[in-house]
Amino acid sequence: MAASTQEKEDYGFAAPRGHVYESVLNLVGGTPLVALPRQTKEDDLKARVLLKLEFFNPLGSVKDRIGTAMVLDAERKGLITPGHTLLVEPTSGNTGISLAFVAAARGYRLIVTMPEGASIERRRMLRLMDAQVELTPARLGMAGAIARANEILNETPDAWMPDQFDNPANPAVHAATTAKEIWVDTDGKVDVVVAGVGTGGTATGIAEALKPRRKGLQVFGVEPAESAIMNGDEPGPHGIQGIGPGFCPATLNTKLLDGVITVSEREAIAAARRCARLDGIPVGISSGASLHAALQLAGQDEYKGKTIVAIAPSFAERYLSTPLFTGL
Ligand code: PMP
Repeated sequence: MAASTQEKEDYGFAAPRGHVYESVLNLVGGTPLVALPRQTKEDDLKARVLLKLEFFNPLGSVKDRIGTAMVLDAERKGLITPGHTLLVEPTSGNTGISLAFVAAARGYRLIVTMPEGASIERRRMLRLMDAQVELTPARLGMAGAIARANEILNETPDAWMPDQFDNPANPAVHAATTAKEIWVDTDGKVDVVVAGVGTGGTATGIAEALKPRRKGLQVFGVEPAESAIMNGDEPGPHGIQGIGPGFCPATLNTKLLDGVITVSEREAIAAARRCARLDGIPVGISSGASLHAALQLAGQDEYKGKTIVAIAPSFAERYLSTPLFTGL
């Protein structure tokens, strides 16, 4: 249509999608890659850094991919039935919110267990989507939430745990979708991918799918400097939510990584704030960590002329009550 062509030319907006979606679940994925013109100029970068904006997923994080994939995969395998099975997952993070929208859209009951002290925004989002939230004592940490979820699983006849740290559907959906999108959107000319490691599903799935296609492709994991277990340190408390779980999950294949870059909470927050200020992209703290690592690589001669994709798992607003916003 002439009018829409005209608008596109005037503003540089994205094209219309050309169809209507039948379910919110069909909105997962297809997230955009975007350049960072002002940071690139200010840092005089040698490489092109692109951010993959996972907060374009319907519930605002990369976890929408695995929330959807784990549930649909279990349905296909006949492990769960809408209207019957109770889903139970210990998570204080984005996975709970993603499971909640999938559970609502497919008609499952969901119980999320989490340590008390998890942010009120998250608990309220879960309740808004009719998920039940069970708080476990803060002093027991995530271990308490896991123990309670297992108890519920054992005492409920038709209950199932997606178990994001141990579910092969997690890396598989990144291989099938996240990796494919990066490949298509860069026309196969991606040289480096940088991804924070929580379950490791993102980094593992992307590496699995893209390394056989692109010789020399490097995939770097990112972990908190305060809990740098892949670099041989002890696990410890840190403020980069979503990465650095303090153990090596089954969903992570470290053999596929070319290195693991450590980033401190302070550096991650500084990078996230700068991305908002300079390029108008307010990302979450773990996005700041991956961006910080990507910018470091992009400043080195070795990466001159290369294309580096950094994954931005979530949006700044999900961290309103964290130090990301302190002093603002
Ligand atoms: N950042 C955030 C905000 C996340 O929620 C997650 C997922 N836990 C990650 C990074 C890491 O992704 P993955 O679990 O695939 O390693």
